Parts: sequence; C-alpha cells; structure tokens
Amino acid sequence: MRAPALVLVYHQVRDAGPEGAELAVHPDRFATHLDVLARRAEVVPLARIRDAARGRPRVALTFDDGYLDNVETAAPMLADRDLPATCFVTGWSLDADREFWWDELEHLLGPPTGGAVPPFETVLAGRRLRVDLGDAAARRRAATAITLRCYRARPDEIRATIDALATHLGVDLVMCDRHRHAGEAGIARLAEVPGITVGGHTVRHPALTAIPAAARDAEIVEGKRRLEALIGREVTQFAFPFGHAASFDDACERAVAAAGFELACRNVRGRVTPRTDPFRIPRCSVGDWSGPEFEARLDRWMRERCR
Ligand SMILES: [Zn+2]
Repeated sequence: MRAPALVLVYHQVRDAGPEGAELAVHPDRFATHLDVLARRAEVVPLARIRDAARGRPRVALTFDDGYLDNVETAAPMLADRDLPATCFVTGWSLDADREFWWDELEHLLGPPTGGAVPPFETVLAGRRLRVDLGDAAARRRAATAITLRCYRARPDEIRATIDALATHLGVDLVMCDRHRHAGEAGIARLAEVPGITVGGHTVRHPALTAIPAAARDAEIVEGKRRLEALIGREVTQFAFPFGHAASFDDACERAVAAAGFELACRNVRGRVTPRTDPFRIPRCSVGDWSGPEFEARLDRWMRERCR
C-alpha cells in the first residue's frame, strides 16, 4: 500500500504569552511534535513529498512568513535532529519597518485599557465596515471581522485601515520582540542551516486574488528575486499568502509557474499523492497542541480521503 504523505505548516515557534496567539506553537510543544514525527513518520524535504513511496507515512515540514523565531528557535531544533524543512519568507521580512498587519491588529484589539471607545468605521475591499469596540468581546469580534475583510483587500487599504484604527484608539504602533521578522541577517543564517530550504511567499503577503494582475506578478517575481539576491541560490518553492481557497486561483498558479517556481503550497488541508498538482500542494495547519492531540490529528489527516 502506498504510504500517506502530508505537508504541515507552522508559523511561529514561541511562547504565546498571556495574550495568546493562534499561530504560535510553544517550543516545548514543537519538540514534542518532532518526537511524535520521529516515531510515526519519515520527515522528507518538501521537494520529495510527491514521490511515490511505500512504507512509513511521509511528512514535509514548512514554516510561513519569515519570523525571527524560525531562525533562532525552530531551525536549531530541526538541525539537531537532522530534519529538513522549507521556510517561506516574504520579501518584507527582510527589512520590514512594521509588523505584519495581523500582528498590529493583535496589539490594537487586545483587551481594552482605557475608557469607552466609539465604534470604528473603515472601507476595506471596496465596502464599508463598522465595528464595535466597546468591550473585550466586541474587540475580538472586531478583530475577526477586520481580518476576514483584509483577506480580500489590497495592502494599501489594509495599511490605511490599521493606521486609522490606531489613531481612533489613540495607540502608537510599535514593533515588539515576539512578532519580530527574521531580517536579512536572519534569513541569510537560515539559508545556511543544513536541510533548510528558503521558499518564496511574495513581498508584502497580499491575497493575490485581491490585487491587479500586474501587481500580483510583481509580488511573486520580486519576492523571489530579493530572496535569491540575499541567499545566492535559486528559490524554486512558493507558498500562497494566506493560502485558503479564496486567496489564489488558476491565474495565480500560472503566474507562479511562469516566475520559475517548481511547486506551490496552499493552506487547504489534504493528503499529497504522486498525482497531486505541484502548484496545488495541500497543507495541514498545526496548532499549539500537546503530543497526543498532535498525534491524533496526524492520524486523522493521514486517513482522510485524498482530494
Ligand atoms: Zn507585536
């Protein structure tokens, strides 16, 4: 019987802190996940995940966005265990002067600290959006509503909304340690870690279906070029920003192929087989789970029907 194959996606490997963070896996938990994988699967480079194979299940590890903890925490843990991984890095992570918008939103819409704040109104993706900011629950709902709308918005609209929200709340946007990007030096170091492949993830992480074709192509090509100039080797693996079904289409896939990439990952869950389209590689998103929970999910994903 053919061995099942999966691609996992992580974002940050760090302590979520008291405010919590959906996309952060604690380093101890990450170590536990690697222990589970050592027992249950063969970890292979992403470039080999579509190979036909028998025997043990195969898993490829990926990391999105280019956070500093990928370099300082995850990569050394992987290197200690001789495990390969692909880190998808935005061009923006090389010299960002701001955090990603979703990290800024986490700062802005945490529990309220001051007095009552009136509702906030903005225009995103061509439509008006009005959110209540009255208490902690309202702020959580506001964060979700803004996030969902940002998935369909242009980067300039998103930035304008975040800036207006900060002004509305009377809060200064700062860059904090836990959301730090790797920077050029960090990515150069990452590229030197044995087994680590640096992949492209555009420049500014827009939803590629939300921007005009010329801007989309420039994001894909320029992100690749900047990484290649930094690390001195070809970048052939790509992950769609956000990666959910609405964030790419056939035209995006053709643009990625035309830019010289050999494969592209999405964040739609599923198993990989030799018949999987190399520009539609599914991935399973990993949370801050205990060993048993991670193992149970892994089992379930490996049993799920191929799409
Ligand atoms: Zn931050």
